[in-house]
Amino acid sequence: MRRSGHFSNFGFRASDSLRISVLRVSDFSLLETPAIRRYIPFVSDSLVVNEIFLSIQGESTWAGLPCVFVRLTACDLRCSYCDTAYAFGEGRRQPLAGILDEVQRLAAPFPAIRPRLPLVELTGGEPLLQPAALALLASLADARFTVLLETSGAHDISKVDARVHRIMDLKCPASGESARNCWSNLEHLKPTDELKFVISTNEDYDWARQMIAQHRLELLCPLLFSWAQPLLAGQADPSLKSLPPGHSLITRRELAERILADALPVRFQAQLHKLIWPPDQRGV
Ligand code: SF4
Repeated sequence: MRRSGHFSNFGFRASDSLRISVLRVSDFSLLETPAIRRYIPFVSDSLVVNEIFLSIQGESTWAGLPCVFVRLTACDLRCSYCDTAYAFGEGRRQPLAGILDEVQRLAAPFPAIRPRLPLVELTGGEPLLQPAALALLASLADARFTVLLETSGAHDISKVDARVHRIMDLKCPASGESARNCWSNLEHLKPTDELKFVISTNEDYDWARQMIAQHRLELLCPLLFSWAQPLLAGQADPSLKSLPPGHSLITRRELAERILADALPVRFQAQLHKLIWPPDQRGV
């Protein structure tokens, strides 16, 4: 039942998050990496993956750089602007070793320079719903990739490997999910992390501006104001939250001009990949 939040159609159940499984030595060359050893036996040895692809990082201070994306399946939120609803239920369980092999295969043509390119980003869905995501992140950092994590901000980020750059949302009111913000995560943000507001409406802008002032967020890490591009008809999953009554949509230009008028210490961003490729194209 893709839209009900159950995952049985691809073999992932809520109880999986509680299961402690034992790595099979014969399956895993990864057992030699410190990251995997650190998490044994606390995590499963596999993840439910929606897609792995090479593209251009489109939405952070890293925008414009080549990046391998590992998109994990499932999300417990239903943001009104979500453009990856196909990741709510579609996916295939893959061993960590196989995921790392695929990342290495996509990265292989790039020259061996430091810092290493492409970047690798774990995204979703919500990656932190699957406990083995922590081990994958650490293994990617062990392999000397620059590792990014996109997370909704609704789950504890404190256990994520310190080498990972965490790009964390603070959900604005028009998302319909702002009650899910895990505010204690702010204590764990480092200057190498990034805090993202996806802005759909003028009311979102006002709220984000207020949160920055109230929590002095500009002192924590770079702040991103990302314009929420309206969904195409085929992208709007019926399970998504509705825009709250009384909200007025904000245009890309209005967002840019309000940032300048208010002298906000934030980075405006459009979703670069949607300017390059059709906004509903997958795997880019
Ligand atoms: S957190 Fe929101 S935008 Fe991100 S995948 Fe989940 S529903 Fe979509």
